[in-house]
Amino acid sequence: MKTVRVPIALVQSVMRTLREKLQQANLYLNTNYPEPTLHYNQRGTIAGSAYYANWEIRINPTLLIENKQNFIEEVIPHELAHLLVNRHFGRAAPHGKEWKWMMETVLGVSAKRTHHFDVSTVKAKTFRYACQCEEEHQLTIRRHNKVLRGENQYRCRHCQSILQFIEQSKF
Ligand SMILES: [Zn+2]
Ligand SMILES: [Zn+2]
Repeated sequence: MKTVRVPIALVQSVMRTLREKLQQANLYLNTNYPEPTLHYNQRGTIAGSAYYANWEIRINPTLLIENKQNFIEEVIPHELAHLLVNRHFGRAAPHGKEWKWMMETVLGVSAKRTHHFDVSTVKAKTFRYACQCEEEHQLTIRRHNKVLRGENQYRCRHCQSILQFIEQSKF
């Protein structure tokens, strides 16, 4: 699988937004939550994802490069809010009232649940899976083949249900 190199200026811009929003949250919440680790390794059509246990945000490098500041302003607060909600409230619905509050009241951004970037360049060879909550899942062809061969199953990190194949994504 090829790696996408993110230009340094974009990486700096991501970091700036992340730090600014985190500081805003720590001031509001009177907390000292640390800076999450960022990885530019999110694949498929998903813009970004948050990993609670690792305090980590994964960013789709292709969608970041294509959408630049729009991507940063939308995806960074969105994923940071998922981490903050989990740390602050424990288990909560992925885009529930705690997340909405974190977005709007604490971070001062509009609480859009989904992103609407043009995903045509990243849409090839991913497969749509459904879980029992509202999250959309995209599996790579490698993972999809493992499911088809019965070698592996994947679970939604929010609802823990086993992902079910819906249909093949098209260009
Ligand atoms: Zn989300
Ligand atoms: Zn789920």
